[in-house]
Amino acid sequence: MTCTPGLKRVHTPYPANPSGVILRTDNNTNTLNTSADKRIAVMEHVTEYLDDLFSFIRRSPTAYHATASAADHLAQHGFQRLDEAVSWCGLPPGPYYVVRNDASLIAFTLSSEPQAGLPMRMAGAHTDSPGLKIKPNPIQMHHGYIQLGVEMYGGLLLAPWFDRNLSIAGRVTWACGTAPVRCSLIDFKRAAAVIPSLAIHLDREANEKRHIDKQTDLVPVIMLTDGASPPDFNEIIRKELASQYPEAATATILASDLFLYDLQPPCRAGLNSELVTAPRLDNLLSCHALLRAMTASADNRNRLIVLNNHEEIGSLSMAGAQGPFLRSVLQRLYPDPDLLQRVIARSLFISVDNAHAVHPNFAAKHDPDHPVGLNQGPVIKFNAAQRYATDAITAGLFRQLCTMADIPCQEFVMRNDMISGSTIGPLTAAEIGVPTVDVGAPQLAMHSIRETIGHLDGWYLLKVMTTFFGAEDSHIHCPEPGL
Ligand SMILES: [Zn+2]
Repeated sequence: MTCTPGLKRVHTPYPANPSGVILRTDNNTNTLNTSADKRIAVMEHVTEYLDDLFSFIRRSPTAYHATASAADHLAQHGFQRLDEAVSWCGLPPGPYYVVRNDASLIAFTLSSEPQAGLPMRMAGAHTDSPGLKIKPNPIQMHHGYIQLGVEMYGGLLLAPWFDRNLSIAGRVTWACGTAPVRCSLIDFKRAAAVIPSLAIHLDREANEKRHIDKQTDLVPVIMLTDGASPPDFNEIIRKELASQYPEAATATILASDLFLYDLQPPCRAGLNSELVTAPRLDNLLSCHALLRAMTASADNRNRLIVLNNHEEIGSLSMAGAQGPFLRSVLQRLYPDPDLLQRVIARSLFISVDNAHAVHPNFAAKHDPDHPVGLNQGPVIKFNAAQRYATDAITAGLFRQLCTMADIPCQEFVMRNDMISGSTIGPLTAAEIGVPTVDVGAPQLAMHSIRETIGHLDGWYLLKVMTTFFGAEDSHIHCPEPGL
């Protein structure tokens, strides 16, 4: 049977050397004379990398925007968009991507017909970050202020949200009259809200035991009242929508998924600029590295990245890592169950999510024998209870990839008297049965509205992921003992 692949858009053919930004990850320093020359060459690459990372973060205030940014990058590099609602039968070799529910994305390249059963280099990260989500009927009037009711999304640190310039972004469904429903991304891109702290004069014990009530203390202020009736929030959204999409000028707003975000852009920090502070580094740093490695790698390997929404709330959703998204894509690429299992058994999945570096003020919170430092390379995460999917096989493979990429790496394990976090690695491993390693760039202040990393670690991650996507089959699989 001849089938038409479900291509959603037609782009230029997959180029051998895609145009656009190609981040340089090769040190290529052998011809340089001195270690100082080599250091300067590497720093130029790192500066180029950080500029690109900062741009990606600025364009990605929500998981929806991160997915749109990812799709743009892939399309610019010749990846063709697939529609889940159309047959993929007969898909020829090439680069493709598919988006589910506007906030999760899978991109893959097929170097040959799927029937060849070649192994797949797979990696995953998550598009969402903890934050404040605006309630469906958010407008509140209190003492001359107009405020927005919000829900907590994920395990956010609450205190850093006070006294920030907050903007609003997300997606909106709308319609004009009885026309079909449309969905659009919006971003206010200005300081639309603030959550003022309570002055210390009104709470003398604020620095000792201030408790933050999630229902009453974190309600953002968006304007002062003028004595009239409260504003219609949907009308506020409609005006913003119409400013971005003129065709929505007469729209009725039907529903929205809107979040608050910090307007402060990413920047380098520290006297020697070895630090980076930015919002949503967990886990946009990893999404960015996977995307750039994907499009920088040669097209002679089968590789796949999955960027999942909903990791911060448990991953159980239609597009989360505990849902069927990845499995369904693999089943469509390999309809023969026996072939699919052979491919999975020879493949490797690298789950990439940031890791906890030792905080100098709270070093006792870390296992003393597994100190994780900034600018010391990707972190391999271990947990005996499989909260991380890493084992000796997958850790060994990743460590060898780091050696091949000429970068350092380090290990993390949680203290026995503390509960380990988790990520999409174990869920993906359990869903499809693929050997998996959990890794990530080290960072401080995870789940704060502003997080801190070293300036080299994202670039190290990009280097090893590029090495992984170009690795020989023998470097992504370890035979059983005796074989
Ligand atoms: Zn994360």
